[in-house]
Amino acid sequence: MSKTVRPLEGKTALITGGSRGIGRVIAQALAFEGADIAVVSSGSGPEAADVCREIAAECGVRTAHYRCDVSDFARTREMVDAVRSDFGGIQILVNCAGITRDGLILRMKEEDFDRVIDVNLKGAFNMIRHCSGIFLRQREGCIINISSVVALRGNPGQANYAASKAGLIGLTKAVARELAGRNIRCNAIAPGFIESSMTEGLSRDKITAAAALGRIGRPEDVAQAAVYLAEASYVTGTVLTVDGGLAM
Ligand code: NAP
Repeated sequence: MSKTVRPLEGKTALITGGSRGIGRVIAQALAFEGADIAVVSSGSGPEAADVCREIAAECGVRTAHYRCDVSDFARTREMVDAVRSDFGGIQILVNCAGITRDGLILRMKEEDFDRVIDVNLKGAFNMIRHCSGIFLRQREGCIINISSVVALRGNPGQANYAASKAGLIGLTKAVARELAGRNIRCNAIAPGFIESSMTEGLSRDKITAAAALGRIGRPEDVAQAAVYLAEASYVTGTVLTVDGGLAM
């Protein structure tokens, strides 16, 4: 009987923000397709190590956790080098690390604007910058940036967050054009409201009323889109909304 080959077998996926929420489920979904998994997060809690253990046991792939603040250019370079040397390469980069520091524009603190841009936008730049040399040498690479529907439609109280997520879309398209000739694809996902610690305090009624499909999204809905983009060899420079019909 022939052994089933999983579509992402032999590839390594590096997922920033993979310790919980959407990133955790993306890591699980890519592992289910056969990819080895490097999880990156900045916290010192046990959750990232737990995720790695779980995924390795469920999917029989290699996993490892790297503690790193994605906004730190020098640290991200060291971390990417470590992942490349531990796994022998990196084929898929998912930029999912993200934070919010909400506030109305009239009162938004400068440090809250800067921190959100630093983590959400510069963090993705740092990761792409350091992974692109590896991708170019391999003549293969897939970048998936987790943006948001608020990049497309705005959201009161989230000027910093919306700006960072809109910036990610510009970054996605520029990188897609720059690297397409070397078989490197770059796409974005724009999720609507998804069940996670980030949306814990928000009104469920308002969210379900705004989405045409009448429900809040699940991390699995976003993970399904990430698996599609990881495997879609003729798709680059696109923004895939996964929002239950919120932004149409
Ligand atoms: P979450 O549950 O708060 O998870 C955020 C992840 O990012 C955690 O793993 C966190 O780990 C990591 N992280 C935060 N700051 C970091 C830093 N400086 N360096 C490295 N890792 C860092 O959030 P989520 O809801 O799953 O969101 C994941 C992504 O989807 C974010 O980019 C978010 O903007 C985007 N998104 C979410 C929604 C939603 O409704 N939930 C909608 C649209 C887009 P540590 O804290 O340990 O670092």
